[in-house]
Amino acid sequence: MTHIILKRHCFSIFFCAIAALSIISCARTESQYFESMNTFMKVQCYGKHSAEAVSAAQKRITELETLLSVTKPESDIYRLNNAPSYPVSVSEETAHLISFSLDIAEKTGGAFNPCLYPVTSLWGFTQKNFRVPSAQEIASALPLTDFRRVKVSGTSLSAEKGMMLDMGAVGKGFAGDEAIKIMRKQGIRSALLDLGGNIQTIGGKPDGSPWSIGIKNPFGAEPLGTVSARDEAVITSGGYERYFTGDDGRRYIHIFDGRTGFPVANEVVSATAVAGSGVLCDALSTSLFVMGAEKAAGFWRENPGFEFIIVIADKKLFLSGGLEARFTLNPDCADIEISIVRRNG
Ligand code: ADP
Ligand code: MG
Repeated sequence: MTHIILKRHCFSIFFCAIAALSIISCARTESQYFESMNTFMKVQCYGKHSAEAVSAAQKRITELETLLSVTKPESDIYRLNNAPSYPVSVSEETAHLISFSLDIAEKTGGAFNPCLYPVTSLWGFTQKNFRVPSAQEIASALPLTDFRRVKVSGTSLSAEKGMMLDMGAVGKGFAGDEAIKIMRKQGIRSALLDLGGNIQTIGGKPDGSPWSIGIKNPFGAEPLGTVSARDEAVITSGGYERYFTGDDGRRYIHIFDGRTGFPVANEVVSATAVAGSGVLCDALSTSLFVMGAEKAAGFWRENPGFEFIIVIADKKLFLSGGLEARFTLNPDCADIEISIVRRNG
C-alpha cells in the first residue's frame, strides 16, 4: 500500500516538474534597448513570441519617428513645416495624430498647442542652441501659433504660411500605443515599455499582479511613490527634464505657455497622467503642466477617462480621486503633503 502511494507521489512530482519546466520555457523574457525620438527606450516583453514582438515594437517606433520628426527632412512634419504651398498630403498616422492634437488643443483651451514651433524654435530647444528671444521676435511668432487655422481633411493638410507643427508632446505616447497594438497582435499579454520615461503597459506582470510604476521624485533620487497599473500608460511631463538657465539667471523649461510664448513658469514641477491610451496621457501630462494644479483639477472634474498626479514646488502633491487606492508614497518622502482631488469637492 505504502509502496503504491509512494509510486503515485513520484508520478505526480514528475508531472509537476514537467509542467513547471514548460511554464518556465513559455515565460520567456525579452528586453530591447534602443534610441529613438531623441531619447532612450526599453521594451520588455514576456511570454511566447517575445523576441519577435520587441523587434516589431522597435521597428514601428522607428517608423513613426521618421514620420513625425520635426528635424528630419523626409518626415511628414518637416514637409508640412517647410511646404511652399498647401494642401500637403501626409500619411494616415500623421493626419490622425494631428487631428487628435487639434482636438486636445480645443478641449484644453489651448493649454496644449501642437503649433507652437514658430515660438519654441526661437528658444533653441530643438538644436540645443538656447537663448532668450527678444519680445519683438516672440510677438511676431505668436500669431503663427493659432491651431484653429490648421485644417485636416482625410490625409490632406492645410495651414497658413509660416505656421509649424510639433508632435513633441504626443509622439512618444502615440508610438507606444502603436507598438502595443502590434505586440498584442502577436499574442503578448504582459509587457512594459519605457519610452524615455513614458511608461506604457500590456496586462500586468507575468505573475498576474499589476505593474508598480515609479513616479520620479523632482526633489531627490528615489521615486516619490508608485502607481499600480494594468493595461495603462503612466506618463509624466517634468520641468526638470529639459531646461536651460538664461543670462538673467532664470530657468527656462521646454514646456511652453502658448498665450505668452514663454516657457511655463507656474508652481508645477511635474504632471503625470494615467489612462488606457498613451497618446492621451502624453497630451494630458503636458496640458496639465501648463494649466497648473487648480485648473488641472477643474479639467479633470469635467473630463472623465483619466487620472492625474501633480507635484508643485512647495512639496505638495495633488492626486485625483481614482488614484487614492493605487498610489503609494515612498516612506522616505514623508515630507510631501498629499491632497486628494475629488469630483464633487
Ligand atoms: P517630454 O517630451 O519631455 O516627455 P512633453 O511630453 O511634455 O515632455 O512634451 C514637451 C514637448 O512638447 C516640448 O519639447 C515641445 O516640443 C512641445 N511642447 C511644448 N509646450 C507645448 C504645449 N503647450 N503644447 C504642446 N506641445 C508643447
Ligand atoms: Mg506629453
